Amino acid sequence: MRIDIITVLPELLDGPVNHSILKRAQNKGLVEIHIHNLRDYSTNKHNRVDDYPFGGQAGMVLQVEPIDLCISKLKSERDYDEVIFTSPDGETFNQPMANKLSMAGNLIILCGHYKGIDYRVREHLITKEISIGDYVLTGGEMAAAIISDAIVRLIPGAIGDEQSALSDSFQDNLLAPPVYTRPADYKGWTVPEILLSGHERKIREWEHDQAVERTKALRPDLLD
Ligand code: SAH
Repeated sequence: MRIDIITVLPELLDGPVNHSILKRAQNKGLVEIHIHNLRDYSTNKHNRVDDYPFGGQAGMVLQVEPIDLCISKLKSERDYDEVIFTSPDGETFNQPMANKLSMAGNLIILCGHYKGIDYRVREHLITKEISIGDYVLTGGEMAAAIISDAIVRLIPGAIGDEQSALSDSFQDNLLAPPVYTRPADYKGWTVPEILLSGHERKIREWEHDQAVERTKALRPDLLD
């Protein structure tokens, strides 16, 4: 898989892309992540990529030309499954979406900034718009990092124990069961007896029951 992220603030992605799962998956050759500074595609001598909105509202808008130049260059080099724009009015990101995107070959993620981007980009260049939730961020970089993390950890081999990704919350529409580790007794706070029993089948049953119970209590909508 290859993910190309287009941004006006590449440094905001340095941390997420160069640590933990995203770093390990890149080191293992499972994914390539390339960050593109939109300013490199500016045709303006001051490297500007934004301008005032038509109509006189407040705020600045990312211009269509540098975005078109960047996306066109990438598309001339390879085919992309999706050209994603991070946007609060997009489809809300969730695990089924992450599962589907994890099977893609190449993805572009465009991060908006300021007031947003010239709408013609969305009309002509974007194939998918994703929101990470009903709140407004300053830019799309954190959204791009979140989307990339959720996708990449699903690529087989990205996390040590594959089973571990499959038993996470939202897979099978169930929340994850509780987990515990040593010591079995801390200040009298004990671990459920069943987990210490060594009885594999019963433990799996207990975990499933717990997952169903927690989902019923906390997210009954997932069971519908
Ligand atoms: N004026 C816009 C918000 C602009 S916020 C509006 O009201 O819809 C600046 C940029 O941050 C957006 O273009 C988008 O790329 C990113 N962003 C903000 N909130 C986001 C969210 N919830 N999910 C994904 N991206 C978001």
